[in-house]
Amino acid sequence: MAHPSYDLVVIGSGPAGQKAALNAAKLGRRVAVVEREQHVGGVCIHTGTIPSKAIREAVLHLTGIRERSVYGDGYTVKQRITMQDLLYRCRHVVRTEVDVIRAQMARNNVAMLFGDASFVDAHTIRVARDDEATVVRARHVLIAVGTEPARPAAVPFLPGRVIDSNGLLELAELPRSMTIVGGGVIGTEYACMLAAVGVRVTLVESRPRLLEFVDDEIAESLQFRMRDMGIRLRLGESVAKIALSPDGAAVEASLASNKMIRSETLLYSIGRQGATDRLNLPAAGLVADARGRLKVNEHYQTEIPHVYAAGDVIGFPALAATSMEQGRLASCHMFQHSTEQAKTLFPFGIYTIPEISMVGQSEQELTAAGAPYEVGIARYRETARGLLIADPNGLLKLLFHPDSRRLLGVHAIGTGATELIHIGQTVMAAGLPIDYFVESVFNYPTLAECYKVAALDGINRVRPGNAVDVDGEEPATDRAKPKAA
Ligand SMILES: Cc1cc2nc3c(=O)[nH]c(=O)nc-3n(C[C@H](O)[C@H](O)[C@H](O)COP(=O)(O)OP(=O)(O)OC[C@H]3O[C@@H](n4cnc5c(N)ncnc54)[C@H](O)[C@@H]3O)c2cc1C
Repeated sequence: MAHPSYDLVVIGSGPAGQKAALNAAKLGRRVAVVEREQHVGGVCIHTGTIPSKAIREAVLHLTGIRERSVYGDGYTVKQRITMQDLLYRCRHVVRTEVDVIRAQMARNNVAMLFGDASFVDAHTIRVARDDEATVVRARHVLIAVGTEPARPAAVPFLPGRVIDSNGLLELAELPRSMTIVGGGVIGTEYACMLAAVGVRVTLVESRPRLLEFVDDEIAESLQFRMRDMGIRLRLGESVAKIALSPDGAAVEASLASNKMIRSETLLYSIGRQGATDRLNLPAAGLVADARGRLKVNEHYQTEIPHVYAAGDVIGFPALAATSMEQGRLASCHMFQHSTEQAKTLFPFGIYTIPEISMVGQSEQELTAAGAPYEVGIARYRETARGLLIADPNGLLKLLFHPDSRRLLGVHAIGTGATELIHIGQTVMAAGLPIDYFVESVFNYPTLAECYKVAALDGINRVRPGNAVDVDGEEPATDRAKPKAA
């Protein structure tokens, strides 16, 4: 019997797989997506981005934390916040997102095959579900299987007590205290959310600071704000052993420095592993690295040219937005559809409280490269919108070339930072100097005005004699108080 044959078989229905499949379908190709879970959407929809962001929205709303600098520390929308309160919103969003993706696939005639995919050979995929298996043939394959939380044998995982980020979504109750091991994006985001609802959080990170790829000044600002929320940061410390206390009442994390941290629950959040172990990669002539990840070239091709990989399975930056774009670009390359674009600028969004975002280069990177740059800073309190939303500590920072004034990087922390960044991303992509911000008119009152304030501040710094700005005022960052009207 002839096996069904496709121009593209995508393994995994997360953001990378979806966008690759839809793009190929729109180019008129026959496409199938294989998904081993019962629902489309991947980690992004079911255990990662969307659930965590839905919980964050619930936290921000129910705690009223954003309003406290106006109405006082005691202000709250709901007195006793439960895990069910946090998950309520999540279920609704996940259901709707799944419906949207399913409909998109159906509308574009993408075949959905539910089951575990593995290679029979480089052009043949076996799809197994329960006791049944089908086989499909593929001219091209995209491996978009994503990642799973790493679960080292030495960590005694136990539901509700010693958990990974998937286990957090299964908690019946909010614990009174939690130790989070790992100060990467996931650990840091959950630390902020849980602390905001009153969980006593201790975050252990072996590096001397959180989020090593984030601009130093922004990361320092975040650490200050996290400590201010009551989070205990144990930086430069590593966990030697995790065990339940003899009476089972606490989880004990013993640090290499001989300290002991006790808490009701421990979230282990160090590393994720590429989900390649069940793919039978050798049958396709491929091997993954020790963390299950695949190596690709600039077109997202593996060593076997018709087998591509995209999304978290190829490693950093492992974000939903970058995964989507990688999937789309891989599928464009497969079918010789020119993308005609310069190197894509990937923004980063980190949904801590407050949120962080960035695009382009950081001060550390520019310094390491010996590239000259100047800085222009705006604090939210210098804009009317910053005062209206009561986020005086928000900050937007522009890095630009001192001669051409071309924008090299944008870094932001504060309300709406992940939205605000896209203005800078667009200006960077267009290769415009920061003068663009000075000459533009922004809606008032908006946070977008921060771009103008930061640009003026930056231009002041590179102007000969550099102490006063165009209006004869001191540079913006030297002002301790909001600008007078
Ligand atoms: C807690 C958490 C929070 C996050 N927050 C954010 C955020 O705020 N912003 C952001 O941009 N990113 C965030 N991310 C990252 C984001 O979720 C990922 O970057 C994104 O989901 C990766 O997409 P992907 O397409 O590579 O794979 P995934 O979304 O991981 O999907 C892979 C799919 O492949 C399927 N699969 C695996 N193996 C097989 C097989 N053998 N056969 C068939 N199917 C298979 C899996 O079941 C899964 O459905 C977060 C991640 C986590 C864990």
